[in-house]
Amino acid sequence: MFILKIDPERCKACGLCMHFCPVGGLEYSEEFNSAGYHPARQTNPEKCTGCRQCIIMCPDVAIEMYKDTTGAKAGSRTGTDGE
Ligand code: SF4
Ligand code: SF4
Repeated sequence: MFILKIDPERCKACGLCMHFCPVGGLEYSEEFNSAGYHPARQTNPEKCTGCRQCIIMCPDVAIEMYKDTTGAKAGSRTGTDGE
């Protein structure tokens, strides 16, 4: 599972990450940043393929990605939501 870390203060809500994500994995947050924009947020980490299109397309370098292995299928321990 891939977790996006999106800096809400860098995001200007251009929507490019959402447009280019092949799995519809991002949306606008309901919250505002200090500039008055609704920053992007990840919707379904389980669907994220880790393709990095959102990171590549973001003109404000607002997105970082981490691979979360705590919820791996082969794990023998019960995972949390990874938050
Ligand atoms: S890494 Fe790819 S699949 Fe995951 S949210 Fe970004 S564009 Fe979508
Ligand atoms: S591409 Fe970057 S600036 Fe544009 S909405 Fe996505 S995170 Fe925000």
